[in-house]
Amino acid sequence: MSNPGPDPSAPGGDPIPDVLYSFYEERPFVSCTRCGESLADFTEGYRISKNFKRGEVVMEYALCMPCLTRMLDEASEESKQRLAEFQTKHFRNVSGFEECALCVRTRGEVRDDEFGIVGVCQGDRMMDSALMCIDCMEAMQEILSEHTRKVWDKFREENFPGVPSDFEPFPSRPVPSLQE
Ligand SMILES: [Zn+2]
Ligand SMILES: [Zn+2]
Repeated sequence: MSNPGPDPSAPGGDPIPDVLYSFYEERPFVSCTRCGESLADFTEGYRISKNFKRGEVVMEYALCMPCLTRMLDEASEESKQRLAEFQTKHFRNVSGFEECALCVRTRGEVRDDEFGIVGVCQGDRMMDSALMCIDCMEAMQEILSEHTRKVWDKFREENFPGVPSDFEPFPSRPVPSLQE
């Protein structure tokens, strides 16, 4: 898939929509959830993620690109390769929050009204956006190695202390299979 990226000569993107504002702070995200630096200072941009379930925000964070890259780098080689393969195989050329980027479900069709949205932003502009349904989030979680899950669990514990265990910065784990 080609990703030409924003044209540096044009202002580009759209204003960041309210749905990507911090629900807890009731304003746009201003600092990186991990390093605390001001998001506006990152010329390479940042990524906002929010997960919803039955109309409620269950998780939200914003990561500057260096923190995001570092976090993805901490995934095992095996996980990185599997995630890349998964995305190559499933990624549809759709943006926005109306349908899943990885399958044919629309937002109205997702199970338990549970989905995640991400916005790739620069300053106060949103350059790209995507929605992922709970089934696709679980499918991605399933292909991660144990090592990667532990690393990303640590991220959750460090950045969201005291939150309920189902409050995951990354897609929640698949429910253990009850099939014999
Ligand atoms: Zn950061
Ligand atoms: Zn999906």
